[in-house]
Amino acid sequence: MQKPVENADFVTLTPTASVDKARHGWRAKCLQRLIRLDLPVPKTVALPAETVRAIASGQVFDMAAIADCFGPQMLVSVRPSPENPEWGGPGTVLNVGMNDDMHAVLSNTHGSEAADALYLRFVQLYSIHVARLDPDMFQQEPGPGALEAALDAYEEETDERFPQSGAQQLAEVLRSMARAWEGTTARLLRQAKGAPPDAVLGLLVQEMALGIGPGLSGSGTMQFVDSVTGAPQITGRFRGQSQGRTSAVETLYLTRDPRGASLEEADGRVFDTLKDYGARCRVKLREEMQIEFTIESGKVHVIDAVRVPRSSRAAVRIAVALANDDVISREDALLRVEPRAITELLHYQVDPRAPRDVLARGIAASPGAATGKIVFSAAAAQASAARDEPCILVRRETSPEDIRGMHAAVAVLTERGGMTSHAAVIARGLGLPCIVGAEIEINSRERQFRGPKGRLFREGDTITLDGTNGEVLVGTAEMLAPALDDGFRTLLSWADLVRDIGIRANADTPEDARTALMFEADGIGLCRTEHMFFDEDRLTVMREMIFADGPEDRRAALDRLLPMQRDDFGALFELMKGEPVCIRLFDPPLHEFLPHDREGMRELAEALDRPLSEVTRRVEALSEFNPMLGMRGVRLGVTVPEIYDMQARAIFEATVEALRRGAEVVPEIMIPLVSASREVEIVKTRVDAVAAAVRTETKEDFTYRLGVMVETPRAALRAGEIAEHAAFLSFGTNDLTQMTYGLSRDDAGRFMSTYVNQQVYSEDPFHILDVEGVGELLLIGAARGRSARPDVTISVCGEHGGNPESIAFCRAAGFDYVSCSPFRVPVARLAAAHFAL
Ligand code: PEP
Ligand code: MG
Repeated sequence: MQKPVENADFVTLTPTASVDKARHGWRAKCLQRLIRLDLPVPKTVALPAETVRAIASGQVFDMAAIADCFGPQMLVSVRPSPENPEWGGPGTVLNVGMNDDMHAVLSNTHGSEAADALYLRFVQLYSIHVARLDPDMFQQEPGPGALEAALDAYEEETDERFPQSGAQQLAEVLRSMARAWEGTTARLLRQAKGAPPDAVLGLLVQEMALGIGPGLSGSGTMQFVDSVTGAPQITGRFRGQSQGRTSAVETLYLTRDPRGASLEEADGRVFDTLKDYGARCRVKLREEMQIEFTIESGKVHVIDAVRVPRSSRAAVRIAVALANDDVISREDALLRVEPRAITELLHYQVDPRAPRDVLARGIAASPGAATGKIVFSAAAAQASAARDEPCILVRRETSPEDIRGMHAAVAVLTERGGMTSHAAVIARGLGLPCIVGAEIEINSRERQFRGPKGRLFREGDTITLDGTNGEVLVGTAEMLAPALDDGFRTLLSWADLVRDIGIRANADTPEDARTALMFEADGIGLCRTEHMFFDEDRLTVMREMIFADGPEDRRAALDRLLPMQRDDFGALFELMKGEPVCIRLFDPPLHEFLPHDREGMRELAEALDRPLSEVTRRVEALSEFNPMLGMRGVRLGVTVPEIYDMQARAIFEATVEALRRGAEVVPEIMIPLVSASREVEIVKTRVDAVAAAVRTETKEDFTYRLGVMVETPRAALRAGEIAEHAAFLSFGTNDLTQMTYGLSRDDAGRFMSTYVNQQVYSEDPFHILDVEGVGELLLIGAARGRSARPDVTISVCGEHGGNPESIAFCRAAGFDYVSCSPFRVPVARLAAAHFAL
């Protein structure tokens, strides 16, 4: 053995000792707090991180001074104490100091069986984990001769007697724990939980509270709220004659229980004492704690206390209860709940305690979980819904034609796509669990798909989709129901009092608007009107409009669409009760409304009573090499202006109807895909003319706001002159990201994970706003827009609007609001509050 060079640095935990979380770790700090609360914590000394690191690097310290703290018959445990409890650490080692003398003492006081068992367990643990001997040699079951066999095995393997010096045992245990912390696996595991690469470990040496002996003895844990629901409830376990995880002699329920004996009945005084300790911790540590205790012949020792592990729903309930009891402030309650985590409360979730058989993974595009039978087409999904059979729509990718199938399904799974692909955007809007870009191979003709390990699934097989973490599971799964309870509503109402950026919802249908209202959005920031044209009756009229031979025919078709659109907008105005409603004029390329296969074209030819050859020719004429950069958005508005005229009229007529009902409506009309201010001028002139006509016809006055979607880089750069014609600028960051990177939002999913893994991009820019590139365009656009028109309203309505990091960016840039899918509104409200605090 190397000669010790100096005494190890340590501090004994007392109410006034200088204990530093960064050096001695969170457990040292927590135990000191328990000591301050006068809880019976066994004597504990803490070694600081620099000493632990020196031990790990081979420096040998003299542990005699530490051993002396615990007297001549030292029996201690050694516990890890990293700065953050989440970062784990090596397992606790119990009964350090156990030797022949201590064995003799314990044989007298506790009987030879108990003394043998303790000594045997320590020799085994020390030999395997500290001396690193072959575990096979140390598998003795407790019983006659087992202890001697273990001691002999140690001597045989090391040519030395089992160490009898407590100080030597302690030095070796500390060394093995210090080294374990430096191991590569431990490092990777803690870094995955957010630990920095240079995270350090403190170590604690604590007097053993034995948990064995005459009378009520044992060990256990107790907490006062349920970890899954957060409801007040005493849970935990108590094992008689035990020291913790092992040697359960007798398990007692904590509270009275018809299934068996309980600690409460065994010793009501001990039980009440523990309850009192829990209550003290809750108030003084300002947290729900789980207490780890040992009882030695009726005497309680508190050996540790940790924050109660909790699900998201429990986190909300606990934070609100602590604030309602004035234990913490409302601001603290807000900060204690991670915004992203509350998504879990809005949807069904796979019970985290349930077993899962994962068949494939993909991008978690829309949260929540659902179980259903596999279907491969929108028609099959609708048929399944008609039979009242929940189904999961599995597609290579989805297109607007699948919308009705998505409505009918309980979840959507696609082989391709990324965070802003069609399936992802629509599913988030509908609140449907969705996984895109999954590692599956679909064979639509055979109506089956294979998972990565070749497992085959057919139409009709049951699977569960967990859109929260991107896992597809075989069969059904245990679920937790959504929890939009009082705690959730209360917390979000507190968030609204502090946040300083508006949160609107992207809502296309009355159902979306109801969801937006349920989640208390500040209005609708984006109503994508094209989704209104996919219902069977409208699609036919839409196709007639597209196939019209001239303006006359076109107007006739649009006249039939007008009342339908007026009803659409009227329903939104009525539901939203005066909250702003921002309607985007028609955006997609027209060919999206046309059939793509021969069968569809034949049906269309029949419906329109035209020759198939003409229909085929017209469809081909409308197809584009690059439709997302082609005839869409305002370009349609300029070249086929009758569509926007019809929509403007529908909006204004619905406004008049609403005003006549006594509602206060100031509609917002938004022009998509602008790249030049002249486009805005042209559309504005026509919309103003329609407004004037409706005012004259109805003899009603109304106002409206006309704005522009900034979703091309050029629009951001020319935002100054555009703002001269626009009351508001709303950044469509989906298209803006697509065009800034020159990266297809529908195809990027195929290589996004490679790009992120190789750190080409730090994140998927369709998911988390690219602050450096797209963000700069946002800042330039906002600044130029505002300098031309100081009162211009600035917002983001792309998918990034619901993402906490992106909200932080928009808030810092002084944007007025963000708009996101209705189901992301609660997360956005809480995140916005966090940033304001
Ligand atoms: C956008 O491009 O960011 C946007 C909101 O419009 P859409 O997703 O409908 O293209
Ligand atoms: Mg767009």
